[in-house]
Amino acid sequence: MSEAITPRFRSVLDRFAAYKPGKVALSPDGRSFKLSSNESPHEPLPSVQKAIMEAARDVNRYPDNSATALIDAIAERYGVAAERVAVGCGSVGVAQMLLEAVAEEGAEILYAWRSFEAYPLLVALSGATSVQVPLRDEVHDLEAMAAAITPRTRLIFVCNPNNPTGTVVGRDALTTFLDRVPADCLVVLDEAYREYVRDESVPDALDLAEGRPNVVVLRTFSKAYGLAGLRIGFLVAHPEVAAAIRKTYLPFSVNSIAQAAAVASLGATDELVARVEATVAERTRVVDELRKDGWTIPPTQANFLWLALGDRTQEFSATCDASGVSVRPFAPDGVRVSIGSPEENDAFLAVARAYPHRV
Ligand code: PMP
Repeated sequence: MSEAITPRFRSVLDRFAAYKPGKVALSPDGRSFKLSSNESPHEPLPSVQKAIMEAARDVNRYPDNSATALIDAIAERYGVAAERVAVGCGSVGVAQMLLEAVAEEGAEILYAWRSFEAYPLLVALSGATSVQVPLRDEVHDLEAMAAAITPRTRLIFVCNPNNPTGTVVGRDALTTFLDRVPADCLVVLDEAYREYVRDESVPDALDLAEGRPNVVVLRTFSKAYGLAGLRIGFLVAHPEVAAAIRKTYLPFSVNSIAQAAAVASLGATDELVARVEATVAERTRVVDELRKDGWTIPPTQANFLWLALGDRTQEFSATCDASGVSVRPFAPDGVRVSIGSPEENDAFLAVARAYPHRV
C-alpha cells in the first residue's frame, strides 16, 4: 500500500522563481551573439589554459579547501593581508556566504532596486527580509538608502557600477553614506565590474575599506578575468569579518581547476588589462553610435549598457533574439546589453539601428 508522499518545502520557495541566466539566441541563419551575461568575449589566455590542463591531472584529489595559493596571490595582487581575503564559488557564492553569516529571521538586508537579480533570491533563501530602495534616475539613491536603515538592518549591498544600469556612485556620496551606517551593519561594495571603471570620481572600494571594519569589498574572476565558467569570487574585509565569513564556506566549493586558473590569471595581469582596455574602447564606440542614432543611454562604467525601454522591453528583446543577438530583458524596466567583441557589437548595433522606437 503506497501513499502519495508530498515533500514539504520551506514556504519561502513559493515566493520567488529560480535564477534565470542570460539566454542564447540563434537567428534563422544560425548566427548567435551572446550579449546577455556580461562575460568576457575572449577565450582564456594560453598561460591560463595551460594551468587548467595541468590542474586537470589532479582532479582525483579534493582541492585545497583553504585555497592558500589563490588567497596569497589575491593578497599580493591587491596589496592586502591574506587574512583579509576569503574566496567562494563565484562572487554570488561569496554573497551567499556573507548572508549565511549575518542573516536570520527578522534581519533586514538593504539594497537598491533595480540591481543584481541574485540579491533578492539570496536574501529570500537566507530567511531575512529584503528592503529595496528604488534607483533615482537609474543611480543608487544613497540618501534614501541611509534613511531606510533600521536597527534590524544587518547588511547593505551597494553595487558599483550597478548591474544592470552601469551607473556609478562617486567617492563623496559613498563616504557620506558609509559614515551614516551603524558599525554593526556590514556594507558590501559589490565591484564585479571594477576593472572597467574609468570615471575618476569612483573610489576603489579597497581604499574605502581601510579603517572601516564593516566594509566588505566583493570582486570576481568572472568578468575582466574572463573565468565565468570556473566560478571564483572573493572578498576583502577586516580580518575578523573575513574569518567569520570563511566559516560559512561550503567545503571544497572553489575547485582545483578554478584555483589554478585564477592564480595563473593573476600572473597575466598585463595581457588581461589590454583586453579590458579593448572592451572599454568598444563601450565608448557602441554608446556613441547609439546616442548619435537617437538613443538615450545612462552613463555606463561597466561592460554593458542599459536601455530603459519600459513596456517595449520584451518586444525589443525578441527583435534582438530574431537576429541571433541575445540581450537581457528586465521587464518592465529595460534591456541590458553586454559589450562584446567588435563583431558582436556590430550585430547588436545593426538591430538597434533598424528598431523603429528609441528611448
Ligand atoms: N555581482 C554583480 C553585480 C554581478 O553582476 C554578478 C554577475 N552577473 C555577480 C556579482 C556574480 O558574479 P559571479 O558569481 O560570476 O562572480
